[in-house]
Amino acid sequence: MHSTIMHFPLTIPHILDRAEKYFADREIISLIPAGMNEAGQPIPGKHRYTYAQMVARARQLANALTAAGIQKGDRVATFAVNHFRHLEAYFGIPITGAVLHTVNVRLHPEQLVYIINHAQDRILLIDNVFARLLPALLPHCPSIEKVVIMGPTPQPIPGMLDYDQWIADQPTTFTPPALDENDAAGMCYTSGTTGHPKGVVYSHRSTLLHSLASALPDSLNLKRSDSLLPVVPMFHVNAWGLPYTSTMVGAKQVFASIFSDGASLAKLLAEEKCTRTAGVPTIWMGLLQEVERAIAAGTPYNLSQLELLVVGGSAAPESLIRACDRVGLHLFHAWGMTETHPLGTCASVPSGIEMDSDEGYHFRAKQGIPVPLVDVRAVDGDLQDVPHDGKTMGALLIRGAWVSGEYYNNPEGTRATQVELDGQRWFDTGDIVTIDEKGYMSIQDRAKDLIKSGGEWISSVDLENALMGHPSLAEAAVIAAPHPKWEERPLGVLVVRPGHDQPSKEDLDAFLIGKFAKWWLPDAYVFVQEIPRTTVGKFLKRALRDQFKDFKLE
Ligand code: ADP
Repeated sequence: MHSTIMHFPLTIPHILDRAEKYFADREIISLIPAGMNEAGQPIPGKHRYTYAQMVARARQLANALTAAGIQKGDRVATFAVNHFRHLEAYFGIPITGAVLHTVNVRLHPEQLVYIINHAQDRILLIDNVFARLLPALLPHCPSIEKVVIMGPTPQPIPGMLDYDQWIADQPTTFTPPALDENDAAGMCYTSGTTGHPKGVVYSHRSTLLHSLASALPDSLNLKRSDSLLPVVPMFHVNAWGLPYTSTMVGAKQVFASIFSDGASLAKLLAEEKCTRTAGVPTIWMGLLQEVERAIAAGTPYNLSQLELLVVGGSAAPESLIRACDRVGLHLFHAWGMTETHPLGTCASVPSGIEMDSDEGYHFRAKQGIPVPLVDVRAVDGDLQDVPHDGKTMGALLIRGAWVSGEYYNNPEGTRATQVELDGQRWFDTGDIVTIDEKGYMSIQDRAKDLIKSGGEWISSVDLENALMGHPSLAEAAVIAAPHPKWEERPLGVLVVRPGHDQPSKEDLDAFLIGKFAKWWLPDAYVFVQEIPRTTVGKFLKRALRDQFKDFKLE
């Protein structure tokens, strides 16, 4: 028997129409580079406009794209940081039926060329600050027919269009073509820490369902009265989908463009009375330092409106969550990846447990339980579920309404990561986790970073999180070093906090001993100036392993 409910396709034009009808006067604020100071550093200016203006300009962009011959299914790339023009592209491109391909600006030129050719992008919208990269890129990217520069340039660049001028004469109304909710709307490539980057294509339906789930109270609890600053870049996993979620609920949106240092963020969060923000742990370490500095100097920022800082992308150590709480910055853990749109799990504290109790911190330092319409399991090498005891590690599999079922034009990548289990399709995340009695997942490692000592597994992430709580350490990464007897043993790579002495091995052992079995403790420590990072601020373990591959452990 069929239901009697009407068919209502879940498509992005609906979010835009809703924003126009109900949130027209809500504000969108962007910091934009406005000149240089004496030290040659960019100084920020502020751009402010309303949802009504954003919607009008997104539709002008849709008309400009259509006039340029863009058709349903064509890929249009953006190469840009977080600001209002990029937000317009988030809507103006998919409402034409074209696919928004957000290119990660921090990738290596070879990977950029690979991605653009693989996606066959036809038009490229690029920030003025990145225009200098074009001469090296364009000769290798024959699919690109037009380049449109976002933001002012000192003088017109021959052969390239200026975004504002390009859309200026277009009508502010636009009738989208017939769209199926399963049509492609967006496209992101994984960072490619292993092999070539792999493409994931999001649909209109997956984007809308992901937005609904992200806004839920036990997810980000995002609503109309909120003011949200997503520090996570719009060029990496769609800034965690937040531009769509915020526009759907009508929240004020605040963008920091290139100004993501602690001081710029603290100032912006205070000025725009932000209630929510989202970023990776390194961003919050920078903000914490600045907030602590300002308190010590007797000139604290007024961040009293700021309720929640979503943290994800890599694990936030419990020590960081506690330190942030002490100055009123409340971190909220979420987990996800490019293949999951990205939201997969959130760590809201189980009912009846105080956020700032020891038990509360215990749960907040985990990555949490799946959001609705997502299911996870942790399995051993025989694809059997591991016990939910919070101790036994297993490979994390995931399925859900916005989880990738294949990679774009990459059957090999798809075969390597899709698993058939009990008649259902699961995506193998490559993450190693434990799951506890309440279903809370805790990321132990990427499978490739796990330390395999004499057939047993040691979680590098657990050791790092604990070490980062040591008062003399600013950063800690733990990698597998080759060992003659045990095959691999943990090696700690440490950065000392400014003004502190280098701690001894005995001191570090004593610090860890109550927290781990003795055989987990690193065999040795090395001290470095900084830990290499990926394009999105995660520790680059592969580079560390290369650097210390000849390190001799006894
Ligand atoms: P890539 O493109 O390199 O895969 P993603 O941004 O998709 O980058 O990263 C996904 C990975 O990041 C996850 O598989 C997981 O290992 C890690 N990650 C994401 N969120 C968290 C978190 N809250 N805690 C620990 N690790 C996380």
